[in-house]
Amino acid sequence: MHLSLVKRDALSDKSDMAWGSDIFHIMLNWVLPERCPCCGAITPAGGPFCVSCWQNLEFLGPPWCRGCAAPFEFDRGDDAYCASCIAHPPRHDGIRAAVKYDDVSAQVVLRLKYGGKIGLARVIARQLVRHLPDDHANLIITPVPLHWTRMWSRTFNQSALIGQELAALSGIPFVPDILVRHKRTPTMRGLDVRRRKKAVGGAFAVNPKWQGRVKGLRLMLIDDVFTTGATSDGCVSVLKRNGASWVQIFCWARALRGTNHQPAFISRDA
Ligand SMILES: [Zn+2]
Ligand SMILES: [Zn+2]
Repeated sequence: MHLSLVKRDALSDKSDMAWGSDIFHIMLNWVLPERCPCCGAITPAGGPFCVSCWQNLEFLGPPWCRGCAAPFEFDRGDDAYCASCIAHPPRHDGIRAAVKYDDVSAQVVLRLKYGGKIGLARVIARQLVRHLPDDHANLIITPVPLHWTRMWSRTFNQSALIGQELAALSGIPFVPDILVRHKRTPTMRGLDVRRRKKAVGGAFAVNPKWQGRVKGLRLMLIDDVFTTGATSDGCVSVLKRNGASWVQIFCWARALRGTNHQPAFISRDA
């Protein structure tokens, strides 16, 4: 009898606490509802995206090309390269993107960059954790830099925010300023691959304080999106010329060859 009373009391305390916690979350959601970073709809508790956007986002993973990690429709083995990597071996050591770049995933970047929703950097970083390399030796996370005038007007570099969050989640060191951006590049929208490459030529350099210290480093280069690769390629070239032994690109979303989908409303930063 006594035991059942204790049990009932314990249960009652627990349910009171649960009830209190539910009320707290209901009130919190009422005051500050969680919103889907793609469409702005209020999300169900526990998920970063609404059900519809979650279903529409195309999360990327193996099987993929050993060179650029473009997904394959079927598994061709760990050593298989796509036609593009065979024709033009990339300078980078792989691209790791959470999702395919399309109208849904582009919204996340728009809200982060232009909507000032900096909390989305953590949402993105959480989706990149599964792509982290197993070997963390000599590994450093560093972002594609913005030109100082852009930093001045926006006050933050979205790629640096993502890198910072990924560092916090993984314990891998984060260095924000290994690269500097010397020149403002024109808006990339509408430019073909050749013109984009020309536009970023000479735009990046190793920060003078990192001169001579890049040799042998393994770098995770963070970018928000990967479209033609002109921007990240400019960074990878500079890092490799300075002796980096391995540079892999990490981004939220990447355009995939063959889909020919380039959301029209995102331009690269100058
Ligand atoms: Zn949504
Ligand atoms: Zn490839």
